[in-house]
Parts: sequence; structure tokens; C-alpha cells
Amino acid sequence: MNFADFHRRSIEQPDAFWAEQAQLIDWHKPFDTVCDYSRPPFVHWFAGGQTNLCHNAVDRHLKDRADQNALIWVSTEVDKEICYSFRELHAEVQRMAACLIELGVKKGDRVLIYMPMIAEAAFAMLACARIGAIHSVVFGGFASVSLASRIDNATPVVIVSADAGSRSGKVVPYKGLLDEAITLAAHKPARVLMVDRGLAPFARVAGRDADYGELRRKHIDARVPCEWVDATHPSYTLYTSGTTGTPKGVQRDTGGYCVALAASMKHIFLGQPGETYFSTSDIGWVVGHSYIVYGPLIAGMATIMYEGLPTRPDAGIWWSLVEKYKVTAMFSAPTAVRVLKKQDPAYLSKYDLSSLRALFLAGEPLDEPTAKWIAEALGKPIIDNYWQTESGWPILTIANGVEKAPSKFGSPGVPMYGYNVKLINESTGEEIRAADEKGVVMIEGPLPPGCMQTVWQDDARFVKTYWTELAGKQLYSTFDWGVRDADGYYFILGRTDDVINVAGHRLGTREIEESISSHPNVAEVAVVGVADNLKGQVAMAFVIAKDASGLTDNAARLKLEGDIMKLVDGQLGAVARPARVLFVSALPKTRSGKLLRRALQAVAENRDPGDLTTIEDPSALQQVKELVAQK
Ligand code: AMP
Repeated sequence: MNFADFHRRSIEQPDAFWAEQAQLIDWHKPFDTVCDYSRPPFVHWFAGGQTNLCHNAVDRHLKDRADQNALIWVSTEVDKEICYSFRELHAEVQRMAACLIELGVKKGDRVLIYMPMIAEAAFAMLACARIGAIHSVVFGGFASVSLASRIDNATPVVIVSADAGSRSGKVVPYKGLLDEAITLAAHKPARVLMVDRGLAPFARVAGRDADYGELRRKHIDARVPCEWVDATHPSYTLYTSGTTGTPKGVQRDTGGYCVALAASMKHIFLGQPGETYFSTSDIGWVVGHSYIVYGPLIAGMATIMYEGLPTRPDAGIWWSLVEKYKVTAMFSAPTAVRVLKKQDPAYLSKYDLSSLRALFLAGEPLDEPTAKWIAEALGKPIIDNYWQTESGWPILTIANGVEKAPSKFGSPGVPMYGYNVKLINESTGEEIRAADEKGVVMIEGPLPPGCMQTVWQDDARFVKTYWTELAGKQLYSTFDWGVRDADGYYFILGRTDDVINVAGHRLGTREIEESISSHPNVAEVAVVGVADNLKGQVAMAFVIAKDASGLTDNAARLKLEGDIMKLVDGQLGAVARPARVLFVSALPKTRSGKLLRRALQAVAENRDPGDLTTIEDPSALQQVKELVAQK
């Protein structure tokens, strides 16, 4: 079928279109209504239907592929590789589910998962889905303050964690950070389930902390049936950053998500049952949810879960896995490719990559040199795809499973089926119909299946944050700038809000500012994202010290910079650490006191700051210019 018609049908006849896609999954009870949009912008997909994500990801495949690989866990950190067949995965998930039930988890309860990239993290996610509990995975790289705010928002009954992760062969203990986070949080989880990898000794809190190894043995023969839940039942929440300091809990449903993932595996990722999928992301991010755990398994594929770096033991490790497991689709981020680009290209030709159909890249803009380099080195199609935590699956890309289409360097592609994408002029609020004009990328409601239902426990915030009404239509903002060319291909030009993207990790500058502000010698701070050759963007902090008297001394300045970085590491995690902290005596503000963020960012990137008629003190920018020039 021609993609334009496929897309048109998804927008003009959504009920017929999505009812067809819904056949890709198993339903316990068929749905009554495909799309209930009676209370915009809220939408209920497949209302009346009942299903279960874990059933579709695991149990459903037992009939045809019980002994085929389902989860392949590879750790180059601890030098271990374990393949779980669908039958074994089914058993492990039931054991984990029985442990959670014993610890008091019931349908609708939240379970927070704070774990490294180990198979038990996937078991925990699937176990929650199995019993109708709502998981909330917090990226293992986040530290105690980030974790505490998520504990307070999700109010979990149980937290599943582990003694430690490992990075570059170095043990990264988790339990201390978790205990600190629970101390900081107002909500106290009743129980903590600890997976002890034997990497780092930790203290147990009597009566609260349970040992997974012990409980698992007790439930070795567990039989825990799938709890059939309504299609609209929340499957998980995943926190993401926005303009304000408090992260939002993106809430996902069950039926819509399951259908959206199954459809995307067929139309976009071309995954066939029995094949192997390899996504290099982390389960703490949305790509890990959709395309390490749920998507490939729903499609009956084996999925590789990888703990380690792309360059250890050498830069051939990922490609050796492609050869060994005959990976057909691989999913990574541009930063990882830029890291590999610095290594010897011989690693790419060392292995047999004939099974690989395409490399999918997402999470941040894919620059042309990186795309060209990897396309040539691999000799495979490189498929950029643009989406967000909120959407759960690609908004813009190429659906080669529907119709083969060419990619264009610098563009993730065209709007996917189900997404009625519009470009809106920021100042007039009108739709841009002409080619090559910059606007805000918006989506006309209803959002398709798989996208966020609401902000966890905060419908008002969902409406206020994301939606605007235009000529009687509800429009969802992606908060990204974009342009569309004459062929309908979109180009993403960066965020319209205060979110930055460091190596594909989405971070809120406000959260980093709040953390830096807690340093006793910080009076004021502004954090902006600055272009970086490797990571796409890095955070740069501009600080006004309370007592700047000693800061003329180089060593004292470096010490304060180091202290501030350590503070961010300890509170938010190293991912949020600014690359530089520069000290200034004033920040560029308007006469009414509003920070001129875009001007500050422009100057920090050596660009023209544009219109400065409202600036109160032009010397503030001059100072930034000089500091940046010195570095
Ligand atoms: P996250 O919610 O962490 O997945 O981050 C989503 C944001 O990452 C988007 O709003 C974009 O700003 C950026 N992004 C994701 N994928 C792409 C892509 N393929 N090209 C450009 N920007 C992207």
C-alpha cells in the first residue's frame, strides 16, 4: 500500500484503521469502542476491551516459540551472558510476580524500579504488567534527590532495586542512594526488594528490605496468571523533564500501547517473530520501555539487553552481538554512533552483519556527517526516528513496512500513521502550510494509541502543559521547532522550552538550576544547553556567587566549580552534571527581570544573540562572551 493513503486513512477513518491494527494483539475481551474522544483532549482507545501487556509479550508466544530466545542479557561489565527462552522468561516473570504479591502489591499499586541493566529489571516490569500493577522505572544514573521526587510522586508500595550497577568495570553502588532517597522522600514504600548481584555490600533495613534471591527460591514454581485489565488501565508511568523543576509522570495505558507497539514493529521496525532485536538504550528511558522490553517481545522477537559500553572490551562488541545473535534490527542513538566514529572503522567490517536490515537512530538530532559515516561503514539503511517519552513510539520517520521510501539526511522523515502533525507559527498561532517555514511541531488531537494518557495524578497539568485550542481543534505541543520541506519531510530544529538533550538524555535546565542553587555560595544560576560535537548538547552553568571575593584566584574558582559539579552528581546524578560552571557578576535579563535564556545560549555558542532591545544590562552578555572565548 502507498504510505500517503495509509496515513490518510489513519487520520480520516481512525476507527477502521486502528480496529485493524488491534488484530495484531490478543484480547481477552473485545473492545466496544475504538476511539472515545468525547472528552478532548483526553482519549480512551479500545474502551471496553480487556487485555494484558505481559500476556502479549510472553505467554502468547509459548505456543509457537517456547524454546526460542526471548531475552538475551549480555553484560560486558561482569562478563556474563544469559539467554532466557520464552518458557524461561515466563517462569522468571511469574517468580517475580509472586514476590511482588507476597510483598503486598495489588492491581493498580505502583512499583518503582531503580535498577541497572540486568534481566531482573525486565522481569520486574513484565511482572507488574502481569498483575496489573503500575511500574515506574527510574533511570539508574539518577541520584537521591531525583529519585526522592519520583518516589513522592509515584507513591510506590514496593521499590525493586539492586546492590549496584557497573560502568567501565567500576562498581556503581545503588543501595546507599536509594536509602538516602527514601529518607528524603515524604512517602515511605512499605517494602524494598533487593537483587543482590554480589557487587557491593549494603545495609538492610529490617522489616523493609527483602532479598530477591531468597524469595525467588520460595516461589520457584510460581504460577501467577495474567490479570486481565481494561485497555485504559495504566501500565506504567515514566518521569520526564519539562520547563518546571518537577518532572512529570507520563502515564501510559495498556491496550493502546500494546497495539501501537505491535503496529510499529510491523510497519516501522520490520520485526518478524523468531528474529532478534537489539536496542542499546537503557530501560530507564522510553526507548528501553518500548523497544528493549515490550515492542520486540510483543512481536515474538528475541531482545538483547546490554549492560556495558559500546567500546568495551573494544569497539566491535555491538557488531559481534549482531553476528552472534543474527540481529535483524538495531536501535541506538546518534551519540553512540559519534563515539564509535572515533574508533578504528575496521571494527565495523570485522563481523558478519548480513542479518542486519537497518539501524534505527533516535533521541536527539542526527547530524549529516554522523549519518553518512555510519551508513557507509555499515552499508545498511540508517533510519532516523523522532519521538518523545510522551508519544511512546515514533512520530516522524519512514515506514518501510508500508511502502519503501527514501530517507533524507538531516530529516527523521514524515508523520507516522495516527499522527496528524501540524506546524504552527509561534507568534500568530496559525498553521503553516508553506514549505521551509519554521514553526512549532504540534499534533492535532486525539493522540494515537500508545501516547500518554495524562500526567500521573494531574489531569490539569496535562491539559495546561501540552494543549492549546486553535479554531476549535485541540493541539498537542511537542515543544520542538521544525520545518517541513516541499516533499513533506520534517526537520527538527531543537526545543522551544528549557529542556536540553545531552547524549540523547532529556534534562530540564530548571532541575539542574535548583540543584546548583542549593550550594551555600550560589546566589543565582542559569543553565543552558550548548552545542557539543560528541553529545549533541552539554549543560553549561552561569553562576553568580554570593561571595565572589576569592574567585579571582584560579584555584579557588576551579574548586568551587568542582564542588558544584559534585553537588549535582550527588543530588541528580552524573548525567545532569554541567560540563562547565562559569562565574559571572550579572545574568542577562529583561528590565522586568526575566532571564534572556535564548540570548545567553546564543552567546555561549558564539552565535548572534538577536534582538536585545529589552535587555537591562548589556554588559552581562559581554561578560559571558569573554568567558566563553577564554575557554
Ligand atoms: P525523550 O522524551 O527523552 O525521548 O526526548 C524527546 C526529545 O528528544 C524530543 O522532543 C526532541 O527534542 C529530541 N529528539 C528525539 N528524537 C529526535 C530525532 N530523531 N531528531 C531530533 N530530535 C529528537
